[in-house]
Amino acid sequence: MVYLDNHSTTPVDPRVLEAMLPYFGPRFGNAASRGHRFGWEAEKAVELARRRIAELAGAAPREIVFTSGATESDNLAIKGAMEAGRRKGNHVVTMATEHKAVLDSVKHLERQGCQVAILPPMADGLLDLNALRAALRPETVLVSVMYANNEIGTVQPVAEIGAICRETGVLFHCDAVQAFGKLPVDVDRDRIDLMSLSAHKMYGPKGVGALYVRKRNPRALLVAQIDGGGHESGMRSGTLNVPAIVGFGEACRLCAREMDADGARLAALRDRLRALLEAGLDGVTVNGTMQRRLPGNLNVTFEGVDAESLLIALPDVALSTGASCTSATVEPSHVLQALGMDRRQAQASVRFGLGRFNTGEEVEQAAGQVVEAVRRIRKLGLTGWA
Ligand SMILES: *Cc1c(COP(=O)(O)O)cnc(C)c1O
Repeated sequence: MVYLDNHSTTPVDPRVLEAMLPYFGPRFGNAASRGHRFGWEAEKAVELARRRIAELAGAAPREIVFTSGATESDNLAIKGAMEAGRRKGNHVVTMATEHKAVLDSVKHLERQGCQVAILPPMADGLLDLNALRAALRPETVLVSVMYANNEIGTVQPVAEIGAICRETGVLFHCDAVQAFGKLPVDVDRDRIDLMSLSAHKMYGPKGVGALYVRKRNPRALLVAQIDGGGHESGMRSGTLNVPAIVGFGEACRLCAREMDADGARLAALRDRLRALLEAGLDGVTVNGTMQRRLPGNLNVTFEGVDAESLLIALPDVALSTGASCTSATVEPSHVLQALGMDRRQAQASVRFGLGRFNTGEEVEQAAGQVVEAVRRIRKLGLTGWA
């Protein structure tokens, strides 16, 4: 079985697991227990992890707030910033290609009376900076644009977006889940004020994430969305998931060391994958720009092929259509539709997500099986284009 769905989740690096294990065992303390060594030990481990995450982001440790994952971080950033910014206004700007955690948070605010601008991407997936400038109003509180897209891998001009927001005095939230640990992210260079992170997209465990919250120049104000014991400087109450946080920190330490080499290797594997698909098949289109793209991402439309049928025809390759599966209905990707594709084209598209543990041999093997399956489906006329 070849795993090529690393944008959905990544395997936990064995070195990360090793670092976590003692915190499921003898080091079980509550990091908020101030009266004994069990608590101190847990707190020390949490603070080390916080430093490692901050270091990879170019942030200060006290600017890192631990959460249950990036869905929660996106909710906290968007709802929290809009609630705190009420005196200035109620306008928020985002993009049609954002993750659902961002889009649904924004839609929630819209139902409560916020003014919302959802900008379309250009055909290559990138944000039109002039459209962003035109969308900003005196009452705009927040701009939320992701670093790298989880379906098409496109990397937004984040530093330029940050500069526009800073000039106009608007907070900039960036969902950096797919970029963090894979591209050099720096909250000062990129002028990011709020940034969502998730451990399980970077070889750490599921169920832990963080929100970077800028403390100075400017200070990003938030209203907490979970109240309780006042953990995480009051920004996010609840007992910390110490083993997961330790794993998150170790995952960051490894990414800092290995990001450059991993990225170069994955980009070469991805280009090899693309070459094999294009050599073996006609009617292959790559979605999103190749100029600004995550090294491990390839998103491809196979003309005339129903992608769901293709996945079923590939039992030994783990891939994704990028479509969001909610209960029984499979909706074609909102990202691909935002690029201007119709439902049928979107339903003919597959996302390849390469990761740290994929080998060249796996890529050759997967490409061969995909080429064969696409040919078979086309011959049978299982196009799903009825
Ligand atoms: C996976 C993902 C999320 C959600 O993260 P969780 O930690 O799984 O809640 C948010 N944004 C992007 C871009 C993602 O890829």
